[in-house]
This record gives sequence, C-alpha cells and structure tokens, in this order.
Amino acid sequence: MKLDSYWTDSAPAFSPAVHALPGQVDVAIVGGGFTGLSAALAFARRGARVAVLEAGTRVAAEASGRNGGHVNNGLAVDYADVAAKVGIAKARAWYHAYDAAVDTVARLVREEAIDCDFMRHGKLKLATRANQMGALERSAQRLIDDGVDTEVEILDAASVRGEVQSERFHGGLLYKRSGQMHMGRFAQGLATAAQRHGAQIHTGTAVERIERLGQGHAHRLHTARGTVTAQQVLLATGATRHGGYGSFGWLRRRIVPIGSFIVVTEPLGAERAQALLAARRTYTTVANIHHYFRLTADHRLVFGGRARFAISSPQSDAASGEILRAGLAETFPQLGAVRLDYCWGGLVDMTQDRLPHAGERDGLYYAMGYSGHGTQMSVHMGERMAAVMNGDANANPWQDRAWPAIPGHFGAPWFLPAVGLYYSLKDKLA
Ligand SMILES: Cc1cc2nc3c(=O)[nH]c(=O)nc-3n(C[C@H](O)[C@H](O)[C@H](O)COP(=O)(O)OP(=O)(O)OC[C@H]3O[C@@H](n4cnc5c(N)ncnc54)[C@H](O)[C@@H]3O)c2cc1C
Repeated sequence: MKLDSYWTDSAPAFSPAVHALPGQVDVAIVGGGFTGLSAALAFARRGARVAVLEAGTRVAAEASGRNGGHVNNGLAVDYADVAAKVGIAKARAWYHAYDAAVDTVARLVREEAIDCDFMRHGKLKLATRANQMGALERSAQRLIDDGVDTEVEILDAASVRGEVQSERFHGGLLYKRSGQMHMGRFAQGLATAAQRHGAQIHTGTAVERIERLGQGHAHRLHTARGTVTAQQVLLATGATRHGGYGSFGWLRRRIVPIGSFIVVTEPLGAERAQALLAARRTYTTVANIHHYFRLTADHRLVFGGRARFAISSPQSDAASGEILRAGLAETFPQLGAVRLDYCWGGLVDMTQDRLPHAGERDGLYYAMGYSGHGTQMSVHMGERMAAVMNGDANANPWQDRAWPAIPGHFGAPWFLPAVGLYYSLKDKLA
C-alpha cells in the first residue's frame, strides 16, 4: 500500500517552466493549490504579470491533491441553521455560491480542455440511522420551500439500496448539481493553463516573511531564493504549515488544521464497481465523524473520513488507514478482503463557522477556510479574488464577514483530541 495520494500518483506531474525569481510582479500569489492556481489563471488571462510562489516541490500537493475527489454543491453546514443565523437572503446567496463554484470548475474544464473525468452525477447524503431521515427530509423541504434548490430529492431505503450495494443506509438526500473529478489531472491541467496564459509558477519557494511597502497593497515577499516585490498579494495558503503561519500570524488563530484520511482500493473491475455504486455519485454519511466515498474512472473505491482527530503524518495516516479499512468493511462487507493500494491524509482548513473567509486585511488579500468543502469553492474563489483585486468588490460572495480569532487557539490545535471525543460522543448519542 502506498502512503501517497492516488490523485497525484496517477496524474502527470506539472512541469513549471524554469524562471529565475522575478524581482517585480503585478501580483504575487502565495500557495499553489486550487485557490492560487485559479487566481493565477484569471490574472494571466487578463495580461497581468503574476507569479505563484509555492513552498512544496509540486503544485496542488496539499489539500487540493489529497481530497476525496468530490465537487459538491450545497453548504458544508445545514442551510436552515445558516438561514436562522444570517437570514434567508444571505443563506440562499451562499448556497448558490456553491452552485456557481461547481459551474466554475465545469467551465474551466471545458475552456481549458482539462482531461480530468469531470462528471455531474450528484451527491447522495446517506442516513446511517433511521432517526436521521427526519432531519434530511426537513432539510430537503426547506431548500425547496425557500426556492433555494428545487432539484433536491429524498431517496427512501429501497431506492438507495438500488444504487448503493450496502445494507447500512436508511435513505438519503440527493443533491443533483454535485460533481466529481480526478483531482490530480485537474490540478495539472489548471497549472498548465495558467502557465500557458503567462503566469510564472515557482515551486520550492516558501514565502517566509511579507513586508508591507507603505499603506497600500504593495509588499515585498521574502523567500530563501530571494525577494519579490508585488503591487498586490493573494494569500492562498490553505491549512498547511509551510512557514506560512509564522509570517501570517493573524490567520493562524482563525484556522484549525484538521486531519482527514482516505484509502483507495485496488481496481475492482467494471462489473463489480457498477454493482457497488451504480449511479457513480459522490456519497457522504450523516454524522459529525462521517465517511465519504466514490468510484474512480478505473473502478477503484475511494473511501475517506475523519478517522482520527489527529494531524496527518505517515504514522497517523497508516493508523487512520486501519480505522478506515474497518469502516469500509462495515459499509461494504463484500469488499472485506479487497486490497488497499493507497492511504493518505491531508489537512482540512477548518473555520469556526465552517464557512470560507475571503477579503483583505492590512493590504493583503486572502481566501481560505473552506472547511472540507473546498475543491469547487477554492477554484471559484481564486477567480473571484482576481476580480476583487481588479476592483470588483462584489465579486466576493463572502465579503463583509467578521472573522474573530478562535478563543484559546494560537496555532497548534492542542484541543483536537477533546473535540474528537465530543463529536464521537455526540454521534453515539444521536
Ligand atoms: C483529506 C481531505 C479530503 C477532502 N475532501 C474534500 C472533498 O471531497 N470535497 C471538497 O469539496 N473538499 C475537500 N477537501 C478540501 C479541499 O481539498 C480544499 O478546501 C481545497 O483544496 C483548498 O485549496 P487551497 O488552494 O485553498 O489550499 P491547498 O490545496 O492546501 O493549497 C495551499 C498551498 O499553499 C502552500 N503554502 C502554504 N504556506 C506557504 C508559504 N508560506 N509559502 C508558499 N506556499 C505556501 C501549500 O504548500 C499548499 O500547496 C478535502 C481536504 C482534505 C485534506
């Protein structure tokens, strides 16, 4: 079993054109995940001199290359809860921002001819207990009644069994606008498109310090390879810890990096895969500590979850792999003996309200905090922040949101085991 991401391992590597670090650019983007690459593409398309500075040796090797491969619409939190807090108009707009985000991915795939198996087969949220169905039904009804998403549909246990070969589920809520894609091939295509349009992408270039030049948006970025002066800077650093938190301490107290873990089986063969998940959707279970799964184009099962409340590391990933193997066997006992070819973990950039945050502070622009629901929103926000930085403040669907620090959080998430215990107890009592 490889302790590596299936997505990056099975995609062609992106080769940055070799460039000396530019002394001056219009825009510097810190972080070469989906947010940074998408912003770079948008800036390059309009002719700006843009450079992506990525700490790792590859682009999209953190969350963007380590996720479950879901491109889901819908909020990460219940629409009705959000509407109760901020009102229907705002909750509706935020819900629709995710529809727009899936559309953005689909459009970029089409416009840049990115070969990444993009499909729109929908997401099915599955009830593992009969008493969860009521909440799913209320969610669906509320989305329909408020005219937010009239395409959602409740599937009963028999319908779910017709497309998911498992006895574990009591029904589900289907979001039809959700999609799936091969994350590694999408990343490679996005980076290649940005470069083709003129963006410079510098891997192995961690930004260690950012120095503000005057009171506007100009900054000097310090790296071990030299400095870059930029008229504008976008921080697209996700949850990762590459020196970034040292420089951008303000973000450190607002984002909790939480490990999420994934295993991928050997290819199951077309027939067995078709019997297992006939509709080839993305699937998530209803729980705080939930599972998510889907098939790949080469008929493997990708099965993930927040197996442990720990930070990803080789030991932690392997331990989580064993927990996920048990979850997989419980969900699909017929796959109990199947070989696992891949196991990895990654860091989710969780915020307290589980919604993204994007805007400007002290002359620096930022977009992050997608809270495990960011494959589509990161791509969307890269493009949207490029528009914001070009003068269109209303392009940011998450503008004007307060982002208070998390009390007691100074960077290292010491409280994760306690949070994990709390949520597993909550799931057991539900
Ligand atoms: C295991 C896992 C499963 C997930 N599953 C899903 C899913 O199925 N569906 C979904 O919608 N979302 C999912 N997500 C979330 C989604 O992948 C992310 O929200 C999204 O990819 C974030 O993209 P990003 O570009 O903002 O951040 P990242 O992809 O993390 O990119 C940030 C980049 O910034 C770089 N960086 C950081 N600091 C510096 C610095 N100082 N200098 C230079 N570079 C720096 C990092 O090296 C990194 O490459 C998952 C995440 C994980 C970890």
